[in-house]
Amino acid sequence: MAGRVLAAVRLLRHQSSRRAFSVGESGANPLQICVVGSGPAGFYTAEKLLKRFRQAKVDIVDRLPSPFGLVRSGVAPDHPETKVVINQFTRVANSENCSYFGNVKLDEDITLTALRALYHVVVLAYGAESDRSLGIPGEGLSGVHSAREVVWWYNGHPDCVNLPLDLKSTDTAVILGQGNVALDVARILLRPVSELATTDISEHAIAALHESNIRKVYLVGRRGPVQAACTAKELREILGIQGLEVKVQQADLATTKLDHVSGLCVLLGDTLFFGRIAVNDEMKKSRSHKRVYELFCKAAASSATSSPLVSSVRQLQFVFYRSPAEILAAGSSTVTGIRLEKTTLSGDERSGQRAVGTGEFEELECGLVLKSIGYKSLPVRDLPFDHRKGVVPNVQGRVITSTESAAIEPGLYVVGWLKRGPTGIIGTNLICADETVESIVEDTQRGLIDVQSTSMMGGLGLKGLLEAQSAQFVSFKEWQIIDQKELELGQVKGKPREKIVVIQDMIKIAKDLVL
Ligand code: NAP
Repeated sequence: MAGRVLAAVRLLRHQSSRRAFSVGESGANPLQICVVGSGPAGFYTAEKLLKRFRQAKVDIVDRLPSPFGLVRSGVAPDHPETKVVINQFTRVANSENCSYFGNVKLDEDITLTALRALYHVVVLAYGAESDRSLGIPGEGLSGVHSAREVVWWYNGHPDCVNLPLDLKSTDTAVILGQGNVALDVARILLRPVSELATTDISEHAIAALHESNIRKVYLVGRRGPVQAACTAKELREILGIQGLEVKVQQADLATTKLDHVSGLCVLLGDTLFFGRIAVNDEMKKSRSHKRVYELFCKAAASSATSSPLVSSVRQLQFVFYRSPAEILAAGSSTVTGIRLEKTTLSGDERSGQRAVGTGEFEELECGLVLKSIGYKSLPVRDLPFDHRKGVVPNVQGRVITSTESAAIEPGLYVVGWLKRGPTGIIGTNLICADETVESIVEDTQRGLIDVQSTSMMGGLGLKGLLEAQSAQFVSFKEWQIIDQKELELGQVKGKPREKIVVIQDMIKIAKDLVL
């Protein structure tokens, strides 16, 4: 059924042009569009909608007073260049036909059903704000956190300001997963604090990092170095941390070589020579995986030749072919270690290499376990949701009631991580937004959206509804007052900004100064 919808959609896509569309422009009632979520997916979508529907009104709603989602709360503080996109999003928010409603929560301040009654089109772009779980014993122990929580903590997300992240009682942390988020978290734990102090990292985080006793971080992957989920740029960055001792076991590379890669990697001087690796399918298919593997080889070679550790040196150890089996507490309620099952790889070229447990176990001592195994989206009331995949079922951004029936929910769309799952960089959302916006254009052309309906009150209706319940929403102008305050606070400390981390403080600043 979903296939039939897809075929019809493809046909329409051929017929649709890329010119700005004029639906809803001639009459007094313009097309009213609401985008829920002000991260990259939301802003790219709003920008494209404003281009495609020249006089449509686009309102962006976010549950926080502050906009920009993952760019503000997800991107690491030592990656300021990635945050430059905020300038582009600010231009979008300041454009004539765009309005921002911050501090408005779906299901609390307004339901999805009520929103759909106010807007011709609702696009859900609220991302993935929860975590996948491992489903192993010990996940609820104190000292176990998700990487998302830690990222939100150091980035000053109001939900995680008070995260009980104890960096003093232990010198060893285990991070589960080897994606870029895992690398971000490891880098923040291991980088010299002086280098972080001049970033926009939150005050409470820098204070805790100053006092941190963490000296050793294990980055644990259930597969091998060839399959690691991180990218070469991010891996190179962490390997290059000043004064950091990096450990990669030659044995892990050898296992890969003998059993899974059929390759040979030798470092002679500064030059890396590859033998049979060239015939390995996985690396042949992906330059990125090959580069990551080469970096691990280099790291292994230099860790083999480096002098023994001085106890004060910070150390990062990559552990491969180990799957988490149990988080240990030795009779207390706090983590004391982790039990890992050794794995081997199984699979073919088409299905990819899967980690399979061998029944052999080992334990690592640690006082902190950070799960970096992927984010998870959450449903809201009255929204079709695929709980297995953790996404809203959709055909090219059109929300469908379920993958079986494939009936389209008129006027309801999805974009970003909520649409495709928690993968991809900020730029991936450009392509994703393009697809969803083109679906909206096609549906207006096909008459699937009732553009003539004059009952859609749009932003005016939303404002009235929020005011009626005394909800304190924040406009973009008001956000810019908070923004200015953060810049000023940062300037005093020699930082780009000091984030306001308490929602009520943000609102107070915005409203007091406006009055
Ligand atoms: P990710 O790239 O999907 O990595 C998830 C990691 O968790 C993988 O190593 C995966 O191993 C492991 N994992 C999943 N389930 C597991 C389980 N049950 N047991 C053990 N390990 C498990 O996710 P992410 O790191 O959260 O990143 C999300 C997206 O944001 C990615 O596309 C990433 O590139 C992007 N991002 C980019 C940057 C940047 O560009 N600087 C920074 C941060 C995030 P398997 O591979 O074996 O499944």
